[in-house]
Amino acid sequence: MPPSVRVRVTAKAKQGPCESCPGDILKGERYATVTQTFGKSQAGKTKYKAMKVHFVCLAKWLICDDLRYRTRKKEKGGRPEGTGLQLSEANKKERRHLVRTRARLMRLVLATEDEGRITVLGERIGFVQAQITALGGPLNENLMHRDINLRNALAVKLRKVGRHG
Ligand SMILES: [Zn+2]
Repeated sequence: MPPSVRVRVTAKAKQGPCESCPGDILKGERYATVTQTFGKSQAGKTKYKAMKVHFVCLAKWLICDDLRYRTRKKEKGGRPEGTGLQLSEANKKERRHLVRTRARLMRLVLATEDEGRITVLGERIGFVQAQITALGGPLNENLMHRDINLRNALAVKLRKVGRHG
């Protein structure tokens, strides 16, 4: 949920479902309509979503939605603004290219069970990794948004062939 929503309380004109619990909101019952806005569409219209919940379900809905919002996955990896490496543009570009190559090699490792292939890929990852380190220092795993399960699966596979991802 975006940090702010609008809540409007009205009486229900006709019976209908609650977004938070299995029960219906009855006709004539006072209930809350939660309206979330999501910025503007390309046509310049404000995008919004309205949810109807029982009065007593409002807090629960807010708590769940807040939790979902706070733990949502961000799509982009990379360093926080203003904490960049002190590299020239050319070196930055090269490092970014290497980081992408490493990510691609890792996806290939995840996609195969062939130990011979994993060994070869592991070697290439090690090689790319060394280049990355030489070009601005080691990668900070915390800045990568790879799923923790994937990260573990990857570590297991690479360890099997004597590598550390
Ligand atoms: Zn409810």
